[in-house]
Amino acid sequence: MDPAPRPFSELPADPDLGVPVPFACGTGEPGAPATARELDQRRVTQCALSRVCGICGAGLGRPVAFLGSEDEAARNEFHFPPTHLTCAQALLTSYDAVGAAVLGQLTRLDRWVLVTTGGFEFVRAGRDQVDRRPVFSPNSVLEERRVG
Ligand SMILES: [Zn+2]
Repeated sequence: MDPAPRPFSELPADPDLGVPVPFACGTGEPGAPATARELDQRRVTQCALSRVCGICGAGLGRPVAFLGSEDEAARNEFHFPPTHLTCAQALLTSYDAVGAAVLGQLTRLDRWVLVTTGGFEFVRAGRDQVDRRPVFSPNSVLEERRVG
């Protein structure tokens, strides 16, 4: 079943952390409670192939935004799918005081990097790579800023 987009204000809340759970993390289907900690890899792929926002699930325009760690920005490889800029800003504002690793990050981030770009590549992991998660590579960064 293809889940319907949800406006930011209607995203489910993480029962543990009390923060909104974006589309790319799952939206609490039976057997898969909504959690902001992990990415749902089926949703990540859906975002990539259907060009929908990883936060609200609605179609993307241009530019698109990516959010991630300093390391991801330095490598130009983001794990969280593309988003609307307004969705990314709203999400990072609501995650400001979250005391946990969220959105598929391995550690808690004090500061996020938010980049905007006109387009991106979706790169699936090669057979021999240790980290088998796919990544998104912005093809030219329009703007990069730090949040947090
Ligand atoms: Zn959105």
